[in-house]
Amino acid sequence: AKASGPHRYLVFTPALRTVLEDRWQIASRLREAAANGEFAVRWQPVVDLRSGEVTGAEALLRWNHPQRGLIPPEEFIPVAEENGLIVPITRWLLQVTTAQATAWAREGLDLAIAVNISAVHLASGTLVDDVLGAVGDNGLRTTGLTVELTETSIARDPEQAVEQFSVLRKHGIRVAIDDFGSGYSSLSAVASLPVDVLKVDRALVAGAPPKRLAAPEAILRAVSALGSALGLQVLAEGVETVEQVDRARRVGCAFAQGYQLSRPLAAEHLSGLLEDSRRR
Ligand code: C2E
Ligand code: CA
Ligand code: CA
Ligand code: CA
Repeated sequence: AKASGPHRYLVFTPALRTVLEDRWQIASRLREAAANGEFAVRWQPVVDLRSGEVTGAEALLRWNHPQRGLIPPEEFIPVAEENGLIVPITRWLLQVTTAQATAWAREGLDLAIAVNISAVHLASGTLVDDVLGAVGDNGLRTTGLTVELTETSIARDPEQAVEQFSVLRKHGIRVAIDDFGSGYSSLSAVASLPVDVLKVDRALVAGAPPKRLAAPEAILRAVSALGSALGLQVLAEGVETVEQVDRARRVGCAFAQGYQLSRPLAAEHLSGLLEDSRRR
């Protein structure tokens, strides 16, 4: 048969069927994954650009599937958001990460931790209880925890975001806008949000191709100035080269994360690294 348009057979392509079966399989396995201990946490160091010290770390979720190996978060988090499993998964993650931070504090490592929160969790109405519960259960100072929400997920329901961020901040929890610059939020929208940290998206940090050399620095400088003017701590995400680290520092970003500084690490590798650097 001859297709009369490029979309005619879309529904029946084997490729799409595989994608759908994949999603279904991921969804059904996801339920057991937590109970089977298949989730793991990697920690990406956050570096203070003035002192060069690691002052914190972002928790990044990993799924070690017994048959398929490591499944990246981009594949299973959208599925977990669709079926609501993201809420119990994040509840588990909050418990594990706050317990880890308390353990580090006992070893004398004062690390501020950050945990990614989904828009689905924000809409569920249990976010505040889940966050404060984990912090309380594990005896962590509330100021030791930052919750990260993307600018896109905040934009879905800004009123609800403002309400819950305000309660969390009243308790000392810090709030970060994640992936800033990747969506379409206006600057005034950011100004009205009760948040503490602006995480500038990797795309803005990396900048445009070398043709327009001046642009990347100008844009990053403007975003950084905006953040600082609003009293926010500005963090440059995804720095991959020495040039990008230098640029972030030059334009006034206080913090940075990225492969140039460190890949995400297992907890014991991170603490090992910090203890080594202290002894030196
Ligand atoms: P994100 O929150 O923006 O996290 C940063 C991502 O960028 C991480 O990918 C990290 O490994 C990667 N990255 C860090 N430095 C660099 C760099 O220099 N270059 C490049 N190319 N990438 C860098 P990861 O761990 O694969 O996570 C991807 C996304 O999945 C996260 O983006 C976040 O949106 C989501 N995610 C991860 N863990 C969780 C979680 O526990 N809960 C929720 N809701 N989302 C999560
Ligand atoms: Ca994040
Ligand atoms: Ca980000
Ligand atoms: Ca992201």
